[in-house]
Amino acid sequence: MPTNGELPVYPMTAIDEITYRTPDALFNGQATINVIQSCVPNIKDAWAIPSIDLDTILIAIRIASYGHDMEFGTTCPKCQNTSERTVDLRTMLDSLRSPDYTASIKYNDLEIFFRPLSYKNLNDNSQLQFEQQKLLQVIPDSTISDADKMTALTRAFQQLTEITVRSLSISITMIRTPQALVSEQPFIEEFLKNCPRDLFNQIRDHVLKLREISELQPLTITCDSCNNQYQQALTLDMTSFFAPAS
Ligand SMILES: [Zn+2]
Repeated sequence: MPTNGELPVYPMTAIDEITYRTPDALFNGQATINVIQSCVPNIKDAWAIPSIDLDTILIAIRIASYGHDMEFGTTCPKCQNTSERTVDLRTMLDSLRSPDYTASIKYNDLEIFFRPLSYKNLNDNSQLQFEQQKLLQVIPDSTISDADKMTALTRAFQQLTEITVRSLSISITMIRTPQALVSEQPFIEEFLKNCPRDLFNQIRDHVLKLREISELQPLTITCDSCNNQYQQALTLDMTSFFAPAS
């Protein structure tokens, strides 16, 4: 980290842009990693960045590469009128908030502390989730017997639960008990599997809330044609986000 606490951000090179168009690299997250490390050379291992910083970094790279105006298409949900809009990414950058990770949860004589997922954790999770959801979609149409379908579906649902529990356990940095501080992830995962339901829900809601705070707020759009006001989420979907501004 430079002494002024600010990371220099450089525009994407031609090579970065080519990297970004490689579908496989995009899917496994490697494209994002390469581009971040190329444009923000102070970041040596982009897999380790807190996932809550990801939007900030990507927007900064987009601004450095193509300027602060970004065009996007929108469709009014009421009258289906479509139009092109422009958003000032500097405003988006200013609106990003950082969740308070010093807040803990107290439950009887336990205290639970949290941390953001790394980009690696986040990426692993979404890939596992994607695979299981894909499975859930194809099982009903497959040619196996109904009994086997049932088994396969149950298994896929169990896997999804496991993924959720693992992701939650990684979001917990430690648990203070009257006797000890527990920070080993396998123990925390075990704890989550066996803890009371109300505590589990409290932990899950807390983690979801932290994530929500760090997310980009949706834009409020007024339809040109019928004056309807609606919200549109601005996705940082890589393919469209980094399509060059023409
Ligand atoms: Zn409309």
